[in-house]
Formats: sequence, structure tokens, C-alpha cells
Amino acid sequence: MAQIIDGKAVSAAVKEEVALENARLKDEHGLKVGLAVVIVGNDPASRVYVNNKKKACETVGFQSFEYALDENTTQEQLLDLVNVLNRDERVNGILVQLPLPSHIDEKAIINAISPEKDVDAFHPVNVGKIMIGEYSFLPCTPAGVMRLIQSTGVDITGKQCVVVGRSNIVGKPQAMLLLQKNGTVTICHSKTKNLKELCLTADILVVAIGRAKFITGDMIKEGAVVIDVGMDRDENGKLCGDVDFESAKEKASYITPVPGGVGPMTIAMLMKNTLTAAKKQAGIE
Ligand code: NAP
Repeated sequence: MAQIIDGKAVSAAVKEEVALENARLKDEHGLKVGLAVVIVGNDPASRVYVNNKKKACETVGFQSFEYALDENTTQEQLLDLVNVLNRDERVNGILVQLPLPSHIDEKAIINAISPEKDVDAFHPVNVGKIMIGEYSFLPCTPAGVMRLIQSTGVDITGKQCVVVGRSNIVGKPQAMLLLQKNGTVTICHSKTKNLKELCLTADILVVAIGRAKFITGDMIKEGAVVIDVGMDRDENGKLCGDVDFESAKEKASYITPVPGGVGPMTIAMLMKNTLTAAKKQAGIE
């Protein structure tokens, strides 16, 4: 029976570390850290995420600047705002909440954010830096997953790691991070033919596909570390992950629940990235 990895506790520990370092840098260097969060339209889920990000800023002692724009905001207007924020010295990190309304090209907006303020690490410059292992920021969700694996004490070196999902924001960077920690990494996706067989080889299995309870206990190797990134709804509309927790916990050594696993980590890592951005911009090592 698996040990449950407590994402809320690990996330609280990361936020505590950030808050302490922020307080120290304020005292020693007068550093004032600011995060700008931009939301376009009225998507209720995005609204919740933005509010949570503002709350996290308060918790760690950052200033937050919210820009809530109308659904009909044009791409040019949004680009203008990003350019203003790129130049605003109070703003160390810029986060544009995705998804954006369909008339706005997300790529154009991501590419307009200064890489130094790109605390989501979605800009091609930051993506490229991750590939060569010379990054300043890591994308928040995969970085959170790494921290959760670290919390188990399991050493990734030499382990068979299987990542299910190859999105630009989770699967691909996740695979790179596991590779950098000396895992032997396999990436699976919707065209993978022998998914079950490959999952059964995994000492560390990270699942990010967006399919409720898709990975079942019979696809998990005895003793594997199982990290479930999915945020889905089950047949009763209840929040669940991509992994069938009940059957998987009988096989795994460690497993993340949903909710309370990867979810809380993403915002904590965003706070960490924002502090890193502020330090770099101020020339503090
Ligand atoms: P995405 O962009 O939709 O990508 C899904 C990936 O899963 C794709 O690579 C797809 O393969 C693969 N896939 C889909 N069905 C599959 C199947 N039957 N077998 C194998 N692979 C399959 O999703 P995402 O943005 O990475 O998000 C994945 C999940 O994580 C979602 O539930 C999302 O809500 C959640 N999420 C959570 C957090 C958090 O903070 N906890 C953050 C981000 C995402 P193809 O490439 O072949 O289409």
C-alpha cells in the first residue's frame, strides 16, 4: 500500500522557503518583489487560478498587480500591456493566464513577454534553456513534480522514468527534467502502441494526459512512484486525476492524490520563479 505524497505540505514548505528568503532579501538588499497577473475574459476556472496566485503572493510577501481585461480585448491591446509590464520596474514576473480568448494568438503573447520576466517559462528562449540545462526558471508544474519526487527521498539516477503525455507545458519539459536528473526516460502519447507495457517498466511514472482515471493499477509496476498531474472530473463530476487512485495505490510505493498532490505545487513554484526573477534582475546571486 502506497504512501501518499502530501502536495499541500510540500507546497507550504516551498512557500515558507520563498517567504523567508524574500524577507531576508528585503532586509539586506531592499528588494521588493512584484508579480503581474493578466487575465482576459470571464472564465471561472481562470478567475479561481488568478485569485489563488494573488493569495500566494500575499502569503510570501510579494506585491501583486492584477490586470483584468475585457473578453473583447484585442491582441494589440494585450501586446501593448505586456510591453508596458516588460518595462515596469516594479514588475519582476509577468503571468498571462491561459487559455486566452480564441481571437488572440497565445504564441504571440508568450513570445512578447520578456524572457527575464517569463515566470511560467513558456517563452521559446526559456524552453531552449531547459533543453541545454542552463535555465533560470523551470515551468511550474514539472518543477513541482520534481520537488514532490525529491520529497520521497527516491533517487532518480538510473531509474526507468515514464512520462505519459507530451504537451509543451507538462510532458515534454517533465521528460527533460527527469533526464537531467539521470533518469532513463520514455515519453508516451496518444499514438503510443504499447502503453500498458511501457507503464509497467516505470520506476517513476508521471501521468499528464487529461483523461479521468485512465491509468489503472494493472499498468503500474510494484513499488513505482506515481505522480498524477491530471485534473479531471469523474462520472459524478468530482475532481480526480488521470490515475485510478484506488487501484494504483495498491501497487505504488508513493502516490500523489488528486486533489492535494501536484495541483498545490504549481503556484508554489511560480512564487519561487518570481523570486528568482527579481534576484536576477537586481543582480543578486
Ligand atoms: P494536453 O495539452 O491536452 O496534452 C495531453 C497529452 O496527453 C498529449 O500529449 C496527448 O497525446 C496525451 N494523451 C491523450 N490521451 C492519451 C492516451 N489515451 N494515451 C496516451 N497519451 C494520451 O494536456 P496538458 O496541458 O499536458 O494537461 C494534462 C493534464 O494535466 C490535464 O488533466 C490538465 O488539467 C492537467 N494539468 C494540471 C496542472 C496542475 O497544476 N496540476 C497543470 C497543467 C495541467 P498527443 O500529443 O498524441 O495528442
